[in-house]
Amino acid sequence: MKTFNFFADGTFRQPHSNDYLPSENPATGEAWAQIPVCDAEDVHIAVSAAQTCFSNHWSHTTPTERSRILRRIGETITANAECLGATETQDNGKLPNHITPSLSGWLVESFDYYAGMTDKLEGALIPANAPDILNYMTWEPFGVCALITAWNSPLGVLIWKLAPALAAGNTVVIKPSEHASASTLELMDVLSEADLPPGLINVVTGAGTPTGEALVTHPDVRMVSFTGGIPGGRAVSAFAAAQVKPLVMELGGKSPQLILADADLDLAVNGVATGIFPVSGQSCVAGSRAIVHSSLIDDFTKRLIDAASDALIGDPNNPATQIGPIAHRAHYEKILSNIEAATDYASLLLDGRGKGPSEPPFSNGFYIGPTIFGPTTNDTPLCQEETFGPVIAIISADTDDDAISIANDSIYGLAAGVWTQDTNRAIRVADRLDAGTVYINNYFGAAAQSPVGGWKQSGYGRENGIEGMRAFMQTKSVWLSTAPAHPHQFGFS
Ligand code: NDP
Repeated sequence: MKTFNFFADGTFRQPHSNDYLPSENPATGEAWAQIPVCDAEDVHIAVSAAQTCFSNHWSHTTPTERSRILRRIGETITANAECLGATETQDNGKLPNHITPSLSGWLVESFDYYAGMTDKLEGALIPANAPDILNYMTWEPFGVCALITAWNSPLGVLIWKLAPALAAGNTVVIKPSEHASASTLELMDVLSEADLPPGLINVVTGAGTPTGEALVTHPDVRMVSFTGGIPGGRAVSAFAAAQVKPLVMELGGKSPQLILADADLDLAVNGVATGIFPVSGQSCVAGSRAIVHSSLIDDFTKRLIDAASDALIGDPNNPATQIGPIAHRAHYEKILSNIEAATDYASLLLDGRGKGPSEPPFSNGFYIGPTIFGPTTNDTPLCQEETFGPVIAIISADTDDDAISIANDSIYGLAAGVWTQDTNRAIRVADRLDAGTVYINNYFGAAAQSPVGGWKQSGYGRENGIEGMRAFMQTKSVWLSTAPAHPHQFGFS
């Protein structure tokens, strides 16, 4: 059993409580590591280290110095992509071919992108309507930022926060999910090669309550960037509200895939299947509602079942595996119970339960295969609540208007897919969808340059792009008098 410790001020430390939580390998159900349970005292050590690094070092660095360090972090992650990816696979079951190439490819490009932005986010000279005044505006960091991440993609979710937060001049304390903290702690070990200032990046682990709560409510934490579900997001928002802390909220989704009457069905079936099954639906943008034109629904449904039925489910380290395990036991049980509940009101066309490997040790793992319900109506829990599993509901629509109104009938607004061979029609539909991201004839794209985030209860604030850096900054407006003796506004001498 591997023991991890938390990371503050450049060193690994045992938790004050000496308590550790077991971490199970979801492929086998066996505990393979333990992670520290950090209490308020440990959180204080981490936040103080981040605050000291900010005040004494990081806030005095030049943009070029920050840029060099960012690139070094990216290069170090790339050089260690295989071992970081292997840890993530062991901890949350993600397929190596999903995680490892991204740590040496598109994901890690965030560090290059934001390294290039450190000296390009210019302030402004503002033509304020005031005589003898030079008014200029600068972008400033907050200080210590809390980065709270989800278990589905711990390093991916983290990188989208870490690169812009540091580029903007902040120091950080990270709180990964108790269900998948190992790869984030491993990253701290790996980054010792990058010669970072102590206190720049700190990691505390443990459950949302008390560890996450102690972090969010620490008075020296000035901003919180959160990725998780709506309940966690609401709790964090309430804690932050007490101290009026700015937030970025990246929350869940129930993303619709609209298959319009003229869709290329081969493309659409493949895209819809890819948008949910390979990651076992454990992606915030997973397309979990297929809204299909009534003329295509029989053909689409048959083809989707055919495409999903033969997927190889099992050991994530087997290169032939297409679908790995659900990331942790509690979530596995939640998906099973959601499927069971949905059988009361929707037809189960493809049942993924019991589809995992039958031989030990994998027979004890948390496997669920592609699961398809349909046709069903959009007012069911299946279509209104996030399952975050390999479960898709098929809904029939008679017109584009109908499809759009079903798509928008949701508390969520994270992403949507549109499948049609008519580009003008696609643009008209995309314009009317309530979603932070719309994919047309493709699904799942993401890049450091392009902002992502939610509408409605899928969150607010943005990651990636210029907006992703501004989210970690605040403006300062400076009023400089250019008059030899500026008249006092209220006439006092
Ligand atoms: P949770 O909301 O349960 O947890 C997210 C993080 O918040 C974890 O680190 C968790 O800690 C912590 N947390 C939970 N409650 C509190 C609290 N009261 N105070 C402080 N911290 C808290 O989400 P999951 O980890 O279950 O992740 C799945 C969710 O994340 C899905 O809804 C998914 O859609 C969403 N997601 C959104 C993305 C986006 O970009 N929009 C990307 C990826 C996922 P712990 O787990 O240790 O309790």
